Amino acid sequence: MAKYSRRDFLKTGAGAGAAALFAGGRLPSAAAAASPGGARVVASGNGIRATAKAMDILMAGGDPLDAVIAGVNIVEDDPNDMSVGYGGLPNEDGVVELDASVMYGPTHTAGAVAALRNIKNPSKVARLVMERTDHVLLVGKGALKFARAHGFREEDLLTEKSRAAWLRWKETMSVRDNWFPPKSESVPEELRSVMNTQGTINCIAVDGAGRLAGVTTTSGLSWKLSGRVGDSPIIGAGLYVDNDIGAAGSTGRGEANLQTCASFRIVAAMGRGMSPEQACLEACEAIIAKTKLVPRLCDADGRPKFGLNFYALNKKGEFGAACLYQGGKYAVHDGAENKLRDAAYLFKRRQDRG
Ligand code: ASP
Repeated sequence: MAKYSRRDFLKTGAGAGAAALFAGGRLPSAAAAASPGGARVVASGNGIRATAKAMDILMAGGDPLDAVIAGVNIVEDDPNDMSVGYGGLPNEDGVVELDASVMYGPTHTAGAVAALRNIKNPSKVARLVMERTDHVLLVGKGALKFARAHGFREEDLLTEKSRAAWLRWKETMSVRDNWFPPKSESVPEELRSVMNTQGTINCIAVDGAGRLAGVTTTSGLSWKLSGRVGDSPIIGAGLYVDNDIGAAGSTGRGEANLQTCASFRIVAAMGRGMSPEQACLEACEAIIAKTKLVPRLCDADGRPKFGLNFYALNKKGEFGAACLYQGGKYAVHDGAENKLRDAAYLFKRRQDRG
């Protein structure tokens, strides 16, 4: 039996049935007051500009897929977000490879691209895979060829900052290779905080007519092997939408999610009547249970050494999010206000434990 602190683990309820689980760790009601028309947009914590943009589009009568894609394009285009699109942290060879998926509720169709190089808006390419091909997922060179055929312009996605972060990683990785570490004083402060960045943007929305759509886009885990594909472009893992029920998406360690298909699982749980927050917490529990089978991924207390975050929205406009560890935020525009909220969680961070 893994040595979870009973106080942290059971207080947040992870040892009991899902409905009763979270009496301690559960946050105040995640469902907000009705918005005019009932539109809602939910995104990962880096998505506050995306939720604002997407809600503008919904309020103007726009389509939810147009809305969420326009929202995440802001972050894909931003060189300062080093986890998505332009300026994303590269793979181990110093090359930025992007993954993205979209799913549209009214037609129950999806499109995705993986390991796509040189195109800064993979979410737009994913949409074209959905709308202009008979396929769901294109990868690597094939995805790039497809993007070029649709007039996308190739560009170098590596910014000076993401190149410098990669070089520092490369030079400090091993004392047994031919790369000398940089002198510590030569490392700018801003780079020290980006050495192992994870990150992704997920954005899901429902409009006043109950139409749902979602998108997940990322540069994936920094320093990954060339060709590595995470959960973001995998329908059912990084994103899932069922127009009869709701939508869910994820950020964090994709490998764990790929082996649990959490977005599908969350939507299915909402379909059985679970609230979005409960469904996200239940997915976190499932991840923890499976991770215990792999000791290298667990700390001395049997807890995952990684983070994983889930976001969910149902057709009624109720929303919620949950993370393995305390401290996660997510962005919600409920039609009246756009703000970051605290996600529910299963574990307190080590330094917070008494
Ligand atoms: N989920 C992404 C992936 O595994 C990375 C992240 O969100 O941090 O590629």
